[in-house]
Amino acid sequence: MGKYEVPPLNYRYDALEPYIDAKTMEIHHAKHHQIYANGLNEALENINALTHKNYITSILSDLTTVPEPVRNAINFHGGGFDNHRLFWESMTPNGGGEPGGKLADEIKIYFGNFKELKETFSQTSLSIQGSGWGWLVYNQTYSRLEIKAMSDQTSPWTLRLIPILGLDVWEHAYYLKYQNRRADYIEAWWNVVNWAEIEERFLRVTT
Ligand code: MN
Repeated sequence: MGKYEVPPLNYRYDALEPYIDAKTMEIHHAKHHQIYANGLNEALENINALTHKNYITSILSDLTTVPEPVRNAINFHGGGFDNHRLFWESMTPNGGGEPGGKLADEIKIYFGNFKELKETFSQTSLSIQGSGWGWLVYNQTYSRLEIKAMSDQTSPWTLRLIPILGLDVWEHAYYLKYQNRRADYIEAWWNVVNWAEIEERFLRVTT
């Protein structure tokens, strides 16, 4: 794969205002994501694995094969790298509303309706102690959608669950604007979810 690089955002730092403020987006994207990229590259370099031919999620899916001295670093920084890549793509200035298509059908089956999914996802994300992510994932074993809380930067891939939609609830994702009010951040975030992208992501893993 070579060295991992933070991908550019395809919208401006202030594009998600007023829901997510420009300063938070800038620091989060340019500083925090960069730390995960650097940490991942360093860990891979330490085991001479920068030339590993598959993307980092293939390594995260089988962490037991990673040499013990760098396993935690790969888990943390590799997860952080891919989680944030997905996060930027999951948001858009023209976001919000509800998903349609096959994803909407599946949500009906497993959650009853979109409102139920939203409430369960929000509650799960709100309840995470300390830092972590709320996730809507696809469980390949049971061919179904699930909601999962993951701590720190641990990727759903480490449980072989495919990430569909993730919400970063680390304080660095909201503290400048929302301080301790994580619930307000979560509620605001639904207004920037890029459902077109999420629907596509879902189709890619299920077809
Ligand atoms: Mn983050």
